Amino acid sequence: VGGEELGVRAVLEVVRAFGFAARAHRGQRRKGETAEPYVNHLAEVSRLLAEASDGRDKVLIIAGLLHDCIEDVGVREAEIAREFGRPVARLVAEVTDDKRLPKAERKRLQVETVAKKSRRAKMLKLADKTSNLRSLVTSPPTDWDLARKREYFQWAKAVVAGCRGVSPYLERRFDA
Ligand code: ZN
Repeated sequence: VGGEELGVRAVLEVVRAFGFAARAHRGQRRKGETAEPYVNHLAEVSRLLAEASDGRDKVLIIAGLLHDCIEDVGVREAEIAREFGRPVARLVAEVTDDKRLPKAERKRLQVETVAKKSRRAKMLKLADKTSNLRSLVTSPPTDWDLARKREYFQWAKAVVAGCRGVSPYLERRFDA
């Protein structure tokens, strides 16, 4: 990952993105038994991406904070582009499922299409799945039985198989 360390303006932009994400997801909680505020997940994903890029990839760090806001709360790509620039908006759109499709089809498509996605999109998927699996272990949804958890692990592994080769750091975190 190239690029300079983030300057003061970039840091302010990241903080602004955190506020944007917190507001956008304000009514949303994680599915697990502790029902954590959703923004905790966004902070975790963004932190993994900051670590993976040595704090240098502003687009990736900001997209980590915003990666679920189109899919979950209906923020428009154009609004993200206006607030945080086109590269961030494109990246968030790239990791957004088409909600018009049934859930099983969306999950199948993730496995099928991920290998053709950009390097940053693959890093984001790796960080997202890592965070989701951690939550499944530390705060499992109360209505999920073992079979359903196993199935989720298998699916996450299949998506991540298509993301390998972009970040040894993130792969290690996922495998752990
Ligand atoms: Zn997510």
